[in-house]
Amino acid sequence: MEFKQGDRVRIEKNGTAYEGKVMPSMEGYITIKMNSGYNAGFSKDRVKVTLLGGNGETPNGGSLNGGKKSGAAGEELPKSGRKLQKIAILSTGGTIASKIDYRTGAVTSQFTADDILAAIPELKEIADFKGRVISSILSENMDSESWQNLARAVVEEIEAGADGIIVTHGTDTMMYTAAALSFMIETPVPIVLVGSQRSADRPSSDNAMNAICAARVATSDIAEVSVVMHGTTSDDFCEIHRGTKVRKMHTSRRDAFKSINSLPIGTVDYSTGEIKTFIDYTRRGERSLKFKPGIEPKCALVKFTPGADPEILDCYINGGYKGLVLEGTGLGHVSTKWTPKIRKATEAKMPVIITSQCLNGRVCDRVYDTGRDMLKAGAIEGEDTLPETALVKLMWVLGQTDEFDEAIKMMKEDLSGEITECCFK
Ligand code: ASP
Repeated sequence: MEFKQGDRVRIEKNGTAYEGKVMPSMEGYITIKMNSGYNAGFSKDRVKVTLLGGNGETPNGGSLNGGKKSGAAGEELPKSGRKLQKIAILSTGGTIASKIDYRTGAVTSQFTADDILAAIPELKEIADFKGRVISSILSENMDSESWQNLARAVVEEIEAGADGIIVTHGTDTMMYTAAALSFMIETPVPIVLVGSQRSADRPSSDNAMNAICAARVATSDIAEVSVVMHGTTSDDFCEIHRGTKVRKMHTSRRDAFKSINSLPIGTVDYSTGEIKTFIDYTRRGERSLKFKPGIEPKCALVKFTPGADPEILDCYINGGYKGLVLEGTGLGHVSTKWTPKIRKATEAKMPVIITSQCLNGRVCDRVYDTGRDMLKAGAIEGEDTLPETALVKLMWVLGQTDEFDEAIKMMKEDLSGEITECCFK
């Protein structure tokens, strides 16, 4: 069936019909923009295509500039003739790379970076992409070794000349990976983590908009590790969150990611691509590339609950753990019964960092006697650091030094935007 870009077509696949306008498509694929505004990509040989109306102007199946070569070195240039920035897209898995497996009914990670690029043709107009598969796992299966492998690949791509990096990632643990990359890599270019809450085969999928906004940030001058995801439940803009200040705050909403104790770095308008920034950020080229991958995996984040047995801490203190982050109540408290265990940990040269279950606000252990007792026992306040970020920071800090005093000093410093300045100190 002959069709052109801009034609209206009906595509039938596995008994379901999809209608929309033909978009620029990769060789072997047909991509349409559906009435809902979402794009869907199909492998041409697996679908039946019926032409509904022919308004197309350019031939289908070609490259974005109609397959023409231009430029002195013969490199392929986009329509505008502008040379595009080089962006490496590293896929790790997660919903953004998933579809429903109809044998089991479960969502599984099946797409690679190249599949994502083929399915979202608008990306090709924003940058010159190179796809690389790091893993195909759901992010609940990530661990500190996965963070190191990913960080190594990111650094290799920057060393090879990438102007920006996109990491496609599961949303569940994206904030941990974002924090890990923030501490491990001092970056001269943007490193953007992106995911989706709904898989590509669901009509309300957020994958295309999030990926397109991520590409805008990867080509911007925001040279930080950031998370780019839907800003609202509509398809209007994405928010750009600092990698150490972001948290998934909803199980299923498309705007699940929020900056905590900070404004987002900015927003990206989906339709215009315009980026607005709200806080200061590190600009492209301000820093040179540095990579410190050391991580100490034997650290734990322990949530205090009323009546919790202090012996829980013995499992860690006697179990070879090297550091603890406590998620305390309110301003950062645990029961007085926990204080001797905190002392036992710090006397064994295990840093103990206090964070709060409130998430919003700053820890202050100098108001109530429970807090003062914790400080006397050697615990330190995590300020306004998120508990998960404090854990990743502690793992990284203990991967850099074995010295207790040095580790405590580093934990008190703002290393990558995780601690915001306090107004009353
Ligand atoms: N469980 C999935 C993951 O984190 C959820 C997602 O990607 O949204 O990989």
